[in-house]
Amino acid sequence: MAHDMQRVRESDGRMLASSGAGSTEVGRSGAMLRVSGLRKSYGEIEALRGVDLEVAAGEIVALLGPNGAGKTTLVSIVAGLRRADAGVVEVDGLDARRRSAEVRRRIGLAPQDTGIYPVVSVRRNLLLFGELAGLGRAELRRRIDEVAEALDIGELLDRQAGKLSGGQKRRVHTAIALLHRPALLLLDEATTGADVETRGHILELVRQLAAEGSAVLYSTHYLAEVEALGSAVAILDHGQVIARGDVGDLIGAHAVPVVELAFDGEVPAISSHGGATVEGNRLRLPTRDPAATLVEVVPQVPPGVLSSVEIIRPNLEAVYLALTGRRYDEADREGAREEATERKGRSVVAK
Ligand code: ATP
Repeated sequence: MAHDMQRVRESDGRMLASSGAGSTEVGRSGAMLRVSGLRKSYGEIEALRGVDLEVAAGEIVALLGPNGAGKTTLVSIVAGLRRADAGVVEVDGLDARRRSAEVRRRIGLAPQDTGIYPVVSVRRNLLLFGELAGLGRAELRRRIDEVAEALDIGELLDRQAGKLSGGQKRRVHTAIALLHRPALLLLDEATTGADVETRGHILELVRQLAAEGSAVLYSTHYLAEVEALGSAVAILDHGQVIARGDVGDLIGAHAVPVVELAFDGEVPAISSHGGATVEGNRLRLPTRDPAATLVEVVPQVPPGVLSSVEIIRPNLEAVYLALTGRRYDEADREGAREEATERKGRSVVAK
């Protein structure tokens, strides 16, 4: 096993980059990650169409976007797992292509597909990655205890890594990514499938790392989590970053409350003050005064067709809706519907 090994053979034989060897000084000023003009196509599909993004040392940036927006592609390219067609990735001022070994040493990665040694125990995996990352024995033991407790994997430490469930493996890989306090931490949906408590612990670790100077880029499907973290946000849509800023600033700039009426069947003709949009069986009315809007439109609804009324407050979800024209959880529901339908062997048209 090469000393400088950053690649791990997964049980399916694929090679995955993982937590790199050698922890690094963090806490420098300026952008730890700088991505510019990044493009990537898979045949006809343009997954990234010129992505520009910076993450400063000590900053947490949540990467949001609907299914297929290009989040995993972006994270994978930054981590050196996939090659961009064009554009530049710099980590700590180093060009990721030309200085790939040095760059990988600065990165901790918890990808969607977990990469761990399947035939040895979880503890052995953690020791191995920790040693490769240059942690001394005493510190490594302490870090293993810390991350094991935070991620609730204490009882898994002596189990064979390859025999864990998907969710358990995901937590182990998150632990590996966090172990050596990387200068740039990349988490791709690391909290998906975790219970609320574990999710809270992961977020606490992320906060701590950022407070110590690490830059964190993490993709997630949980907007409440992003609001709780108070992190910056980058919204990726159709392969481009369409918004970047602090949650509060984005809410101030883009979000107004929205009254949403859902109908059984087609949306009936209803007149209202400007800005109404229809998506599927939902009518959305952006408004500064939701109560007045309800008083105006509800009397116009024919009997028996209204299935729900919701007021979407000016929060991150409203920002997302204003910028992308879709609700965030709808992207999830569509994904879930497609998965369910694939299982049944039928096709589905998402509204
Ligand atoms: P999700 O939220 O569903 O994980 P994502 O935002 O991470 O999505 P990507 O996985 O980066 O999106 O995919 C971006 C686009 O590129 C999608 O249209 C996807 O189908 C396509 N794509 C991704 N990987 C491949 C691949 N290996 N070969 C062909 N197309 C791909």
